[in-house]
Amino acid sequence: MNEIDGANLDPQFKYDVARRPGGENLQLCFACGTCTAGCPVSEVDPEFNPRKIIRQVVLGMRREVLSSPVIWRCVQCYSCTAKCPQNVRFREILRALREMAVEEGYVDSAVFARVDRLGRLAQTLRRNLAEALVSDPARFEEMCRQAEALAPAAAAAADKG
Ligand code: SF4
Ligand code: SF4
Repeated sequence: MNEIDGANLDPQFKYDVARRPGGENLQLCFACGTCTAGCPVSEVDPEFNPRKIIRQVVLGMRREVLSSPVIWRCVQCYSCTAKCPQNVRFREILRALREMAVEEGYVDSAVFARVDRLGRLAQTLRRNLAEALVSDPARFEEMCRQAEALAPAAAAAADKG
C-alpha cells in the first residue's frame, strides 16, 4: 500500500473510522512517529508503520488500507496507545480497520479466529523458546535457526541487536 491513487481517495474514510469506538481522536495525530518508534512489530517489519497507516486513513486511502495484510500484523500490545502524546489510540484504530475490512468484504470473518490462533501459536513458541533458553541452549539455537529461516526479517533484526 504505497502509491496514492487520487481517483480512488475517499474523503469519508477518516470520518467512518473516527465514528468507531476508540477512533474518535484520529485527527489529533500530528505524525510525530512515536507510535512507530516504540512498536515491536515495526522494529522487525519496516512495512508495518502506524504513523503511515494513520496518514493513509486521513488521506482517504480506503481500499489500500482495508485490503492490506499489513493491518493484521499488530500484536495488540498497547505500546503505541500508551506513548502517544495526542491520545490517538492507534491500537483501537487498527481494531476498527480490521472490523471494517471484514464488514466491507476485503477478508472473510473467519480471519478473527485465525488471528486468535496466530496469537496462541506465537505465545506457545515464545514459551518454548524461553524454556530452552535456560534449560537447553543448543535446542534454543536450533529453534531460533528454524524460526529465522521462516522469518528472515527477524533474523536481520536479531543480528543488528
Ligand atoms: S504517536 Fe500519536 S500523534 Fe504521534 S504519529 Fe503516532 S498516533 Fe500520531
Ligand atoms: S498495539 Fe500494535 S501497532 Fe501498537 S505498538 Fe503494539 S504492535 Fe505496534
